[in-house]
Amino acid sequence: MNNGITLEEGSFGFDYVIQHKDGRDMLVQNDWEYPGTAMTFGWSPCSRCRRACRGASDGTIDCPRCTASQHIAKAQTWLDAHIGARVEDPGYFEAIEYPVNPDVVKAIYAIAYEYHSGQWSRGYRLLCRVQRYARKHGIDLDAETSASRKLYHTLAARYGAKL
Ligand SMILES: [Zn+2]
Repeated sequence: MNNGITLEEGSFGFDYVIQHKDGRDMLVQNDWEYPGTAMTFGWSPCSRCRRACRGASDGTIDCPRCTASQHIAKAQTWLDAHIGARVEDPGYFEAIEYPVNPDVVKAIYAIAYEYHSGQWSRGYRLLCRVQRYARKHGIDLDAETSASRKLYHTLAARYGAKL
């Protein structure tokens, strides 16, 4: 599963984390999101409702048999019982279309951070851009590697003075 997501427990007892295989994650902490999250991992809101209903709800509105809050409570119970479930990502995370080399991104961040010459400089613009990029691609800029450190020194020698 290349694009797999896993259901994990959050840190507060009422929340959940959708963890992508590539390290990105997403917090689910609003109860109206529980039914949708549970459905992603295989739950179905009206599976226990019997006949009359037939999936009349997506779990966030009343159906002939259950109120929205009953659906939400059931979804939460289901989620708690299925921590660790793994499915293909139906689209929570934007696909990464091109290869990202995190070491390059980290090195550029470090040089922009160390060498920028004020808020209106090229270096500062670069800093903002690389931060946005890292956030979008789930790259932890503070986690240096020996490769990113080495790249940083090369880049700093060449471009440091121009930022
Ligand atoms: Zn129903």
